[in-house]
Amino acid sequence: MSEIINGKEIAKSLKEGLAAKVVELNEKYGRTPNLVVILVGDDPGSVSYVTGKAKAANEVGIRNTTLRFPVTISEDELLAKVEELNADTDVDGILVQLPLPKHIDENKVIATISIDKDVDAFSPMSVARLWLKQPTIVPCTPNGIIKLLKSTGIEISGKEAVVIGRSNIVGLPVAKLLLDENATVTIAHSRTRNLAEVARRADILVVAIGRERLVTADMIKPGAVVIDVGVNRDTRNGKLCGDVDYENAKEVAAYITPVPGGVGPMTIACLMENTVENFIKKVEK
Ligand code: NAP
Repeated sequence: MSEIINGKEIAKSLKEGLAAKVVELNEKYGRTPNLVVILVGDDPGSVSYVTGKAKAANEVGIRNTTLRFPVTISEDELLAKVEELNADTDVDGILVQLPLPKHIDENKVIATISIDKDVDAFSPMSVARLWLKQPTIVPCTPNGIIKLLKSTGIEISGKEAVVIGRSNIVGLPVAKLLLDENATVTIAHSRTRNLAEVARRADILVVAIGRERLVTADMIKPGAVVIDVGVNRDTRNGKLCGDVDYENAKEVAAYITPVPGGVGPMTIACLMENTVENFIKKVEK
């Protein structure tokens, strides 16, 4: 029977620490960090993510604004807005909520965000710095996953870690961070032959696929730590669920994250941490 890794609680305590830090920074520098979120269109998923980010920023005491644009905004207009925020010395973090409408080149928009304000750490310069082991902020979901692993007290160094999924925003960076923690890392994907056999080698199994209950209990090594990043709708009841068959997997794993309440809250808390870090770098320069 697993111990459940309570992402909600761990995120809450991270945000409380940041809130105390923001009070301290305000006393010292006379202002608080300022996050600007750009939302294009009204996709319900994106609106809900942006609302969650604003709520967390308010909890931490980070000033925040959501700039909403119609889906018809042109690429040039959006790029001009990002440039304007880059130049605004009162703005410490810029986040463009993805996905953007098809007529806008997402890569171009993300690459335009100044590296000093790139709180998502998605820009090519931030990614390069991470892979080159240069000082940089760490992307939020992978960072949150490492914090959840560390919260269990298990030693990551020397462990067999398997990451299922190789996306730029989750699978690849989390594999890189696990490697930096001296785990031996295997990255599995849709072409991996015998996924079950590969997954069963893992002391640490991180699953970021986006397919409901794809990872079943028989794919988990007894005593493994399982981090479920997936966010799906359960076809049985319409509720949110992960990529792992949670009910059965928790009988096998030593530690497991639930969905919701695992990785999701940590992603948002780490975004707040990145915003505060950027602010500190700026004011203490
Ligand atoms: P993605 O870009 O669609 O990548 C999915 C990955 O899963 C790909 O690498 C794909 O392999 C692999 N895959 C697909 N089917 C597979 C199969 N049958 N067996 C093995 N691997 C398979 O998704 P993502 O952006 O990484 O997100 C993954 C999930 O995490 C989604 O549910 C997303 O909503 C969730 N997510 C959650 C958070 C959070 O904060 N909680 C943050 C980000 C994402 P190929 O590369 O071979 O196609």
